[in-house]
Amino acid sequence: MPREILNPFKIAQSYFEQAAERLKLDAGMRAILSTPKRTLTVSIPVRMDQGGYRVFIGHRVAHNMARGPAKGGIRFHPDVTLDEVKALASWMTWKCACLDLPFGGGKGGVVVDPHRLSDGERERLTRRYTSEILPLIGPDQDIPAPDVYTDPQIMAWIMDTYSMTKGATTLGVVTGKPLALGGSKGRERATARGVQFVLREACRARKISIKGARVAIQGYGNAGSHLAALLHEEGARIVAASDSGGGVYDPKGLTPAQLLAHKRAGRSLKTFEQGKMITNKQLLELAVDVLVPAALENQITSANAGRIKAKIIAEAANGPTTPMADDILFRRGRTVIPDILANAGGVTVSYFEWVQDFYTFFWEEDEVDRRLEKYMVRAYHSVAEAAARHKCSLRGGAYVVAVDRVAEATRVRGIFP
Ligand code: GLU
Repeated sequence: MPREILNPFKIAQSYFEQAAERLKLDAGMRAILSTPKRTLTVSIPVRMDQGGYRVFIGHRVAHNMARGPAKGGIRFHPDVTLDEVKALASWMTWKCACLDLPFGGGKGGVVVDPHRLSDGERERLTRRYTSEILPLIGPDQDIPAPDVYTDPQIMAWIMDTYSMTKGATTLGVVTGKPLALGGSKGRERATARGVQFVLREACRARKISIKGARVAIQGYGNAGSHLAALLHEEGARIVAASDSGGGVYDPKGLTPAQLLAHKRAGRSLKTFEQGKMITNKQLLELAVDVLVPAALENQITSANAGRIKAKIIAEAANGPTTPMADDILFRRGRTVIPDILANAGGVTVSYFEWVQDFYTFFWEEDEVDRRLEKYMVRAYHSVAEAAARHKCSLRGGAYVVAVDRVAEATRVRGIFP
């Protein structure tokens, strides 16, 4: 058996290559679409509260801008690498194209554990990182947003740093901002809402009822915690949930609001009073109907894919499944709703936020939700249709839809000069 690829950029390339093959793209087009347009690595000196300085490393990658400005979040995490940011940036290109948003793909990352910084240190880190990547970002160039361990407050600092430097308040330079500052209603839970909409379609296709369905959620950040609440409201049973420290399992069902209160008190879900303590690995293999990886990359690999019992796997995280695992799940008849479709609700409402910022006219939450549902359902069906046409998984279908759109934009624009 060949060795499993775990390098995220190589994984991204391998999914891309499958689509390029199906679309019969020539070698030149494959090279253009698979090579990041630009990558920038910066050093970020930060004055620490205890005196002295520390230097952090950050990256910003614009993978492709053929269909519009680069779009994608910024991650603060100790394990960030340039290859990971390149992979995440390319997934943003395919995600935006899959949803038919007028954006390319980008991503940023800073190698840091933000939980070990004070608020002041986090603000200085964010502002200096923003100033270092400032030549690349802008509302019509490259538009950051939240990702793992970044939030609306951090987006507000990015917006302010950019605006102070340019001398004009520029709302559209970043999305996922607070409501007081050009943010969109519904953005906070948009990723979860998007997962909910496509999960509904996938359940319908597999004749599974959400009501009463057993759901396990790995990761209790923005995506995982909101999704737990939304599915619970719809009548699903959240039987397991976890965070980076571990998780909890109770076949009778957990109450998302109580899990969130526990997290907000600064405690890991593994110490939750009810149910049984489980590891993140055990969570993935539970007897459930729906499994939602909502944490980090490479969680489902060839080592555990054969033991996944869920009928539907909805990828709220980016890159949770390796290509070998993806093949195994497909052969075992599991439905994987791939990341570039499943978690696209976040960037879709980012798009709505950017539009509202330009208009400086803001929508009510029901309007955001209604439009999001339309985008997600439409994307789900074009992906399912492409998957049926190519007799492949939904991931295969999603990449075909996305890569075809970016290739077409590249073809009609032509290559400069
Ligand atoms: N970080 C999110 C993602 O991976 C959102 C990106 C955005 O809104 O630009 O899709």
